[in-house]
Amino acid sequence: MAYSYDNSNIFAKILRGEIPCGKVLETEHSLAFNDIAPKAPVHVLVIPKGSYVNFDHFAAEASDAELADFSRAVGEICRSTGVAEHSGGNGYRLISNSGSDGVQVVPHMHVHVIGGCLLGSFVQPAGESQ
Ligand code: AMP
Repeated sequence: MAYSYDNSNIFAKILRGEIPCGKVLETEHSLAFNDIAPKAPVHVLVIPKGSYVNFDHFAAEASDAELADFSRAVGEICRSTGVAEHSGGNGYRLISNSGSDGVQVVPHMHVHVIGGCLLGSFVQPAGESQ
């Protein structure tokens, strides 16, 4: 089954410059910006500029240049925001939600870089409320 990408999603609008974002980093193939509803002191979203719906789509169809650029952009965000232990922080968490079980809200591939405080347990166990 082919991947289907909806051009009307909010990150596509950010990439087209139709709505603003709090840009943190832009590279040839990637864009990073602050999450509008941060869950921690550092909460940055890193997205590829290409039209990929989720991580498995990106991993399957992105070029090597896009994959390398994205990976390096995520690492750069971890260091530049100060959450990486390498840059004096206490660490971070990367999350890429996909589909309904993953509770993906925006159908454009993205990775959340979250840190700046103790983040607690990995994920909420199934069936337990927050
Ligand atoms: P997900 O559930 O992984 O799809 O998360 C989508 C994320 O996008 C959420 O954390 C939202 O707070 C964030 N978000 C939605 N709209 C915007 C926006 N215009 N600028 C920045 N972040 C946004």
